[in-house]
Amino acid sequence: MDSNREYIEVARASSLANYRPAPFVLTQGEGVHVWDRDGQKYLDLSGGIAVLSVGHCHPKLVEAIASQAGRLMHVSNLFYNDRAIELAEQLTRRTGFAKVYFANSGTEAVEALLKLARRFQHESGHPNKTELVAAKRSFHGRTFGSLSVTGQDKYHVGMKPLLPGVSFVDYNDLHAMRSAISDNTAGVVLEPLQAEGGIIVPDDGYLKGVRDLCDAHGALLLFDEVQTGYGRTGRFLAREWSGVRPDACSLAKGIGGGFPLGAMAVTERVENGLPPSSHASTFGGNALACAAGLAVLSIFDEEQLVKRAERLGGVLREMLTSLVDLPAVVGIRGMGLLIGVALDPSVDALKTLAAIRAEHVLMTIAGGNVLRICPALTVTESELEEGVTVMRRVLTDPPKAG
Ligand SMILES: *Cc1c(COP(=O)(O)O)cnc(C)c1O
Repeated sequence: MDSNREYIEVARASSLANYRPAPFVLTQGEGVHVWDRDGQKYLDLSGGIAVLSVGHCHPKLVEAIASQAGRLMHVSNLFYNDRAIELAEQLTRRTGFAKVYFANSGTEAVEALLKLARRFQHESGHPNKTELVAAKRSFHGRTFGSLSVTGQDKYHVGMKPLLPGVSFVDYNDLHAMRSAISDNTAGVVLEPLQAEGGIIVPDDGYLKGVRDLCDAHGALLLFDEVQTGYGRTGRFLAREWSGVRPDACSLAKGIGGGFPLGAMAVTERVENGLPPSSHASTFGGNALACAAGLAVLSIFDEEQLVKRAERLGGVLREMLTSLVDLPAVVGIRGMGLLIGVALDPSVDALKTLAAIRAEHVLMTIAGGNVLRICPALTVTESELEEGVTVMRRVLTDPPKAG
């Protein structure tokens, strides 16, 4: 096996067909660039779907993982390990949450949120509070619990029955939320801005309104910050923009800079919601993943990446405003370095993505017809400019739908 083509033939024969990967095989990455088996270079503005917070193969992250791998990787949760303690301490300090639980992925972090909501209510003497409220067009993951609160029918096809007691409301609609929350609600799970659903930023006051409704009914407010957290929006957590404090939030994606790691952070109020043996993960909080997490944070500090995301987000939006004049583009939305370019329904989004890819720029699609830009927070202005130039070229005469 040598070329892209040869590898892809083997992939088609040996790998499950649940994905539709682009037609090349990546072998190497550095910063915001990746290379394939044929030696072709790409500008990666997809950021591993908002995972590569510090870019591909940041030397400090590489070194931290390598040296931790030679020291201690895994001991199980029957024992403390120093890296997990250090990372939990850092996360509480940086987020203001009281306690942290580690998982290995976003969906697991969300499962922890859902179990926390149920068990906290149980522990608090409210065994009837078991129901969950979530938003339409949300995305919370693919395991059955997180899938059950994901408000997109396409992911539910053939997977039912899902978790009972979940109701879905329109995002950014407080009236809908008011009618959905009741005294049987254990928790409300929301993304502070919807990412996979198409980069949908709620109006000022929406999250605060939901907070108040949760308080009125004794329901927990659970934020899924798997994609929006970790500097992505120009704040360490996206919740900071609203000032709203959820009872717990999930983190993953950017937290390990590419190394699998997830976390749930909780406030003092609910910190005893999951008592011993109520929830666990074999790999969660392993020393190797936590060493990666610590390295990511120290890179964040050294390179001021959260501020950088805010500044470059502004620069990127400025560059993208020139696209709004094109008939293919109906709007630009998002925060920080999580930006969506919404396409007109006359445009074929998948083919547009492929046309941009053919010019060696990688991005992703959210919500069916939104080009999502979520590069490493280390991206430079000229790299963004290069990507926008390609977008402008493709979107000037875009592939038509139908
Ligand atoms: C990606 C994502 C998840 C799922 O994360 P996995 O690591 O793929 O399980 C959950 N919630 C949000 C908001 C996400 O963007």
